[in-house]
Order: sequence, then structure tokens, then C-alpha cells
Amino acid sequence: MTDRWDAIILGGGPGGSTLAASLAKLGRRSLVLERETFPRFHIGESLLPRSREVFERLGLDEKLDARFLRKYGARFLCSSTRRTRTYSFADAFDPKFEFAYQVERDVFDQLLLRHAAELGAEVRESWEAVEVLFDGSRAVGVRARPRARSEGAAPDAASAARAGASDVVELRAPIIVDATGRDTLLASRLRRKAQLAELDKTALFAHYEGVVREEGIHQGNIQLVIFDHGWFWFIPFRGAVTSVGAVVSSSWIRSRRRGESLDHFFDRTVAESSWARELLAGARRVRPVGALADFSYRIDQLAGDGWLFVGDAGGFLDPLFSTGAHLAIKGADLAATAIHRALEAGDTSRAAFASYEAEVRYAVDLFLGVVQGFYKGHFRETLFEPNQRPTMRKLITSMLAGDVFHAEKRPQWASFLRQYYPAEVPTFT
Ligand SMILES: Cc1cc2nc3c(=O)[nH]c(=O)nc-3n(C[C@H](O)[C@H](O)[C@H](O)COP(=O)(O)OP(=O)(O)OC[C@H]3O[C@@H](n4cnc5c(N)ncnc54)[C@H](O)[C@@H]3O)c2cc1C
Repeated sequence: MTDRWDAIILGGGPGGSTLAASLAKLGRRSLVLERETFPRFHIGESLLPRSREVFERLGLDEKLDARFLRKYGARFLCSSTRRTRTYSFADAFDPKFEFAYQVERDVFDQLLLRHAAELGAEVRESWEAVEVLFDGSRAVGVRARPRARSEGAAPDAASAARAGASDVVELRAPIIVDATGRDTLLASRLRRKAQLAELDKTALFAHYEGVVREEGIHQGNIQLVIFDHGWFWFIPFRGAVTSVGAVVSSSWIRSRRRGESLDHFFDRTVAESSWARELLAGARRVRPVGALADFSYRIDQLAGDGWLFVGDAGGFLDPLFSTGAHLAIKGADLAATAIHRALEAGDTSRAAFASYEAEVRYAVDLFLGVVQGFYKGHFRETLFEPNQRPTMRKLITSMLAGDVFHAEKRPQWASFLRQYYPAEVPTFT
């Protein structure tokens, strides 16, 4: 008997839906289980240009261009020195993708998931994966259930017909992919997760109207404002709304007064930065402030016998360079190729996914080293250096564009960056 699906994918965020779409393009059948009913709010709204390689191949570029604001670069602003520096993606070593998109994630994630379904993936929203099933060390399936209305989700009629609302069912496939994002369903169960202690930051975030933007082609740039307690992001969307967030140190978080609302604390945080005050002068908050603490973690293994992690389910390293969605999207695309080849060869053991693991690790560690260099201070100086060499500008721009996946031939600049800013990774016991 042949399996109904080649892979079951847990989670329908950018990682899960890109994987499902890429597998469909390779003629593979997958089932996506997504716990929520889309659209739903999600943090992580600024994309990187090199994700467009994947979007183009999946036939998503026109849909995305019709809906989202183009992002041609990134502008850094230092509140204490008042220095600013803009990096334009057109200045990268390989300027093939000179823009990315700024996306409202409720709309973007739904568009990606629907696209995967249009390409042939089976998608079940309001379905929660409860547990991955193992036969020895090999993943063989998943226990899952449709969510009931009282749990905040409304299972569609077809889902409800497949199983009673409280029924847990067993679904089987030769490959199980955990793309459950920060829930890290399988990594948490396998106890393979470690916090990145020195990146113990907290994010506060909201949406505003009337934020000051750059002009012309640069109006879609992300603006990153650095101040004493951390940094702010300003991510403009098509239309009037801008996403504004602050990533701050734990010592600043401890200064929050007893009973102080998040909205008030965020206003106080803004008041600490001259640039944030200026960009927000005259702006109006249109979404209450949310918060997320201590969000960086590493997972020591990205694949095993019959299973893989994709996107945040395999680690998260701080949003400073907006790398999360890119790692999920590019990683998912690489995972699809690895899965396709493994199934063709009839070997779905961990060894079959070694190059996938190595490639994702290389990219993650490159970004992680630079993020750590930023918080220690020296990369911050390099960003604003007054007499910055053109090669250094190209190098930083290529990194900001996400041009870090090069299995065939590593470019010199990437090796240089990794050597200069080596990632410090936690040890696993
Ligand atoms: C403060 C902050 C700011 C960020 N800013 C950016 C940014 O500007 N740009 C950027 O690229 N990234 C950013 N990120 C990171 C970005 O949010 C993630 O990297 C990205 O969403 C990862 O995609 P994913 O598909 O792996 O996971 P997700 O997008 O989280 O998707 C996982 C999906 O799995 C579903 N799920 C969870 N558990 C289950 C289950 N048991 N069963 C079924 N489904 C389940 C969830 O409902 C969700 O839809 C930011 C992150 C943080 C914390």
C-alpha cells in the first residue's frame, strides 16, 4: 500500500507553507496541519531580498508584488550620536534581488498557505498536532485533532467530518516535519533546546499610523533605531500603517513600574530615544502594545530518522537583521529538495539530511555571530564607520540581503564575516 502523503508538515507559517509548495512543485504530496484559522496576527513583518529566489520559483512573485510594499534597503539610526547610514540592496555583491517586501503577516501567511493548497498540498486549518509518533528512533506519524470552537478556532465542516471535535487521530507518512515555530513541538519533547543566554532580550511592539517614512524609492526601507537600552524597528506597510517594535535589555524591562501598562511602558521606552521620538511625533497607535520575552534559542539537531525541523522550530536567533522568515523560507526550500532526494533513494535516515543541516547551520551561525558582534558593540561601530570601504559596504549589504546560502561555493565575504564574528553557541548536555 502506498502512503497517502510523502510528508506531514506541522505548522502552516512561512516555513510550513513554503515546504508544502516546494514539495508540490517536485511532485510530492504533503499534508499541512495548522492549529489556527488564518488570517491571524503574527510578528515578523520585514522580509529579505533573497527569499524572492524561492518566491519566483514557486510562482508567488506577482501575487506578492501586487499586495506588499517593496523594501529597497535598511537605514540604521543611532540615537546617541545622531549618525545614520542607509544600505541599499542594489549595492550587494550579487545585486540580482534589489528589493524585498514588508508584509502584514496575517495577509502574507494566508497567501502562502493558500498558494501551497493551489499547488496541490492538502491543508487542514484548525488542526493541532499533539505528538509526533516514533517507532524506535524513527518518526512515523503524528497524533492530531481538530480544534473545537471553544478553543478559539472554528474547524471547517470538512475537518469536523473527518473526526469528531475532541477526537485525536493518528496520521502516518514517511517524513514528519516540525514547522510549529516557537512552539517547537518536537524539540521541546526531545529536550534539544537551549536559550541563547546573552540574547535574553524582550520585544515590545505595536502598529501606528502617521510614522515618518523615508522618501521615494526608500519609503519602504526598514528603519532600525539604536538607543541605550536596545533598538527599535520601523517597518512600513503599503498604506498608512507602520509596525514599530523595541527590542530591549532585561535591565530596561526591570525598570517597568508595578502596575504600569505595556502601552505606557512602551511610550516611556520611545521617550528614551531621540530618533524614535522624532519618527513617532504625530503618529497614532492603532494596535495595543504586545510583548514577547527571551525569544532566542538554539536547537542542537535539525533532522533525525524520518524527521526534520524547519524555521523557528529549529531555532531562533534575535530579529535584529530580520532573518527569521528568510531562514524559514530558504530552509524550507532546501528541506523540500532533501526530502525529495531521500524518498527517491529510499533512505530517509538522518544521514540523508546532512547537507540540509549543514547548510542551515552555516547561515544561522553567520547571522548569529554578527548579531552577537552587534550587542558587544564592535559591529555597531562597523555599521556607522565614517570612512567605510566600498568592499565593507558590499559585505554588510549582502548579509542584510540574506545572501548566505551557498552550498556550492562559499563567497569570500561570507567566510570573512564568519571568521571575524564567530558565533558563540551554547553547549548541550
Ligand atoms: C520580536 C520579533 C520580531 C521579529 N521580526 C522579524 C522580521 O522583521 N522579519 C523576519 O523575517 N522575522 C522576524 N521575526 C521572526 C519570525 O517571526 C519567524 O522567524 C517566522 O515567523 C518563522 O516562520 P515559521 O514558519 O518557522 O514559524 P511561524 O511563522 O511561527 O509558524 C508556525 C505555525 O505553526 C502553527 N503551530 C504551532 N503549534 C502547532 C501545532 N501543535 N499544531 C499545528 N500547528 C501549530 C502556528 O499556529 C503557526 O502558524 C521576529 C521574531 C520576533 C520574536
